[in-house]
Amino acid sequence: MSETLLQVEHLKKYYSLGKRWFGKSEQQVIKAVDDVSFSVLKGETFGLVGESGCGKSTAGRSILRLIEPTAGRVQFNGQDLTSLTPKELRLQRKDMQIVFQDPFSSLNPRHTVQRILEEPLIVHGVGNAKERRNLISRLIEVVGLSHSHLQRYPHQFSGGQRQRIGIARALSLQPKLIVADEPVSALDVSIQSQVINLLQDLQEEFGLTYIFIAHDLSVVKHICDRIAVMYLGRIVEISEKNRLYETPQHPYTKALFSAVPEPDPDIKTERIILQGEVPSPANAPVGCAFHTRCPMVMDICQTLRPELTETEPGHLTACHLFTGSDATGRAV
Ligand code: SF4
Repeated sequence: MSETLLQVEHLKKYYSLGKRWFGKSEQQVIKAVDDVSFSVLKGETFGLVGESGCGKSTAGRSILRLIEPTAGRVQFNGQDLTSLTPKELRLQRKDMQIVFQDPFSSLNPRHTVQRILEEPLIVHGVGNAKERRNLISRLIEVVGLSHSHLQRYPHQFSGGQRQRIGIARALSLQPKLIVADEPVSALDVSIQSQVINLLQDLQEEFGLTYIFIAHDLSVVKHICDRIAVMYLGRIVEISEKNRLYETPQHPYTKALFSAVPEPDPDIKTERIILQGEVPSPANAPVGCAFHTRCPMVMDICQTLRPELTETEPGHLTACHLFTGSDATGRAV
């Protein structure tokens, strides 16, 4: 049984928006991440999936404290990140890195690759100039680029190459955890698999743990060990990936996964088309947030929020169909 590297407990990220309505000012609260809990094991790839705007990227950034969470605890490697001072957090940051979706905007266009890769090393006081040069030479090779690339600028690279530079930068401090936030969605399909294979190779070589955030379920199926599905800022289901793809429980997961193309033409799958739009997180429905679109909705769903509950070993679902409540909300 692997050790837990990261434990996220009741994480929330709310944004307050002031607006004027018929001359009166009102405060609106957007619950981008609303009471999210999960754990990530050492060496695994944990997927966070859902449609755009479901809160998966905000959750990833709140975990790293790139944005300050509103509430909740994040235990990383035995330390509570949410209680660290900025200085203590900087030291921990060495072990937790992020790869961004857009490799172009995340690399400083005025800096050479050499400087981009050296910057985190200088900030964290790693080695002298010669040691840093050696480390950078190794890093650039590890991600499949060459020394001649080090004196070039980001605009001189293709999208796939830029993402390799972003990965090299994330690797430079030898982190334990990398949050990969949609790392291939800005790339051509032909390049995506190269970057995914690179991430897998690096995981094996350096014993990395990934939180892999994505909306492309085919990519997620390929790379992840376990997956959490998010809807309107909350996790609705968590399971080992094959079980989630073969026997999803939550009606939202079923609908989401029914849209994934089946490679075997002999297997007939039925696409579930959901009615209605995703509600605004500023005005999330009470009860189950999915009840306005759920084909299985019951009375209880409109008033009582279902808790994420273990329905089979390692499989958790937030749905009254599985949580053992009767139509009045009593436990049965
Ligand atoms: Fe549907 Fe109710 Fe389950 Fe929500 S709790 S997913 S509305 S059946």
